[in-house]
Amino acid sequence: METLEFQAEARQLLQLMVHSIYSNKDIFLRELISNASDALDKLRLAKLQDGLEADTSDLHIEIEVDAEARTLVVRDNGIGMTREEVVALIGTIAKSGTAELLSKLKEAKESPELIGQFGVGFYSTFMVADRVELVTRKAGTEGHGTRWESAGEGTFTIDDAPDAPIGTTVTLHLRPKDEDDALYDYTDEWKIKEIVKRYSDFISFPIRKGDEVLNSQKALWARPRSEVTDEEYHEFYKHISHDWTDPLEIINMKAEGTFEYEALLFIPSRAPHDLFQRDARRGLQLYVKRVFIMDDSRELIPDYLRFVKGVVDAADLSLNISREILQQDRHIQMIRRRLVKKVLSTIKDLLSSNPEKYATFWREFGRAVKEGLLAEPDNHKPILEIASFATTEGTEPTTLAAYVERMKEGQEEIYFLTGESRSQVENSPHMEAFREQGYEVLILTDPVDEIWVDVVPEFDGKKLRSIARGSVDLPKDEDKPEPEGDFGPLLGFLTEKLTEQVKEVRLSHRLTTSAACLVSDADDITPALEKMYRAMGQ
Ligand code: ADP
Ligand code: MG
Repeated sequence: METLEFQAEARQLLQLMVHSIYSNKDIFLRELISNASDALDKLRLAKLQDGLEADTSDLHIEIEVDAEARTLVVRDNGIGMTREEVVALIGTIAKSGTAELLSKLKEAKESPELIGQFGVGFYSTFMVADRVELVTRKAGTEGHGTRWESAGEGTFTIDDAPDAPIGTTVTLHLRPKDEDDALYDYTDEWKIKEIVKRYSDFISFPIRKGDEVLNSQKALWARPRSEVTDEEYHEFYKHISHDWTDPLEIINMKAEGTFEYEALLFIPSRAPHDLFQRDARRGLQLYVKRVFIMDDSRELIPDYLRFVKGVVDAADLSLNISREILQQDRHIQMIRRRLVKKVLSTIKDLLSSNPEKYATFWREFGRAVKEGLLAEPDNHKPILEIASFATTEGTEPTTLAAYVERMKEGQEEIYFLTGESRSQVENSPHMEAFREQGYEVLILTDPVDEIWVDVVPEFDGKKLRSIARGSVDLPKDEDKPEPEGDFGPLLGFLTEKLTEQVKEVRLSHRLTTSAACLVSDADDITPALEKMYRAMGQ
């Protein structure tokens, strides 16, 4: 037997679990069932795709309780783990951004749904157990299995398990009942049934307790929306996303005919902490005729909609389909185009049907969505239609349509100014004349704004125009007197003196209180973009 230490981050997280910061402890069972279900999917897939020899005739999950001994057991006959896998998977958290998230988690004791973002389901067992044993044997391997045990403190032990069957058995030694004055106990029959029904009803393998099957196993995406409760959808969402908060919006799709598929998509209500991290998990789950094929299928949804979670079940694909084939598959590309269209139109509908939800959506995901203006020129219009931007008119963001609606008489173009912050943009000398004459200007401060404004020429027939570039044709203010006198010599003098620094010095109508300002040529890159390129080492 060997005693090993948990990795530092894992130890911290366990601490949080042991001194449970999460009020809903029931979810430990959901997490164990979810892991068991994944393991069963993996075994079926290994047989199907890699030709692994395995008996998959009775894939299932079993729950056993012993009230006397105060134990609760969850067993699966899935893929199992090797000794190395147990140490690596259960002893460490290998996910990006863990340290950062942990510090946030400690600050925010009140928002424990953050825990879910770790995908640390297994550790949640320590909320209810003071000792956890895991016995496992990997399908397709010779020899003995492995036994892991821990009290959730700093260490765990690992040992051989000679007689372990294929699959995984997790045994929880439940904390004494009187520790918290709960009305129920996790050895209560009704409590187990209630938790399974609530959180795991859609799991596609039978969850048994004795001779009884506790879940209906119905694929949620295959059921008519009217027959599924919001709560069922929400639990399914949590199962596939590892998010612990309810989704913002649910999207059902069904296509019949030459190429059949069903899709169930979710728009989360919060951006994940790793939305802008390259190695973050993204993509949808792919099923073929109810059989799970793969997680994180990026082929099904473009990167700029990477926050969308969900399932696509395609009827006509081969069960053996690989990622390489997926990338080229015509049907997959067609499904992807339809999903994009549907997601964008759903958001557009929210704009009028539920402005509050729309505002949440844009606040959380707008920065990512704007990347789509670069990635998908064909979708400029639908993306711009759902975009909103900070503006000099008021504190709330505005859509372009609303901006156009408010345009002053004679105004032909949509004015914007990019910069690093709202205050920087508002205090820019470029702003003076526009403010003075009451022209609304959009305030674009996301890094991606610098880039898309260069590739998107117009919206609704109105040119998008940076007020920092070239000579903006501001309709002349009649009340303002022409500058008097001959400025020729002064301008000539300045141009000569500043020849290293600027291309030209010219008289301008755009300033009211400042004496001078720097503008770029219409074709030059903006100062902020210049800075960004420099930061990227170009
Ligand atoms: P997650 O499920 O988000 O990966 P968990 O903490 O729930 O995180 O589980 C960690 C890992 O341990 C899983 O990814 C899986 O590889 C492995 N694992 C957990 N439970 C099982 C099981 N019952 N059978 C096989 N592997 C398991
Ligand atoms: Mg899990």
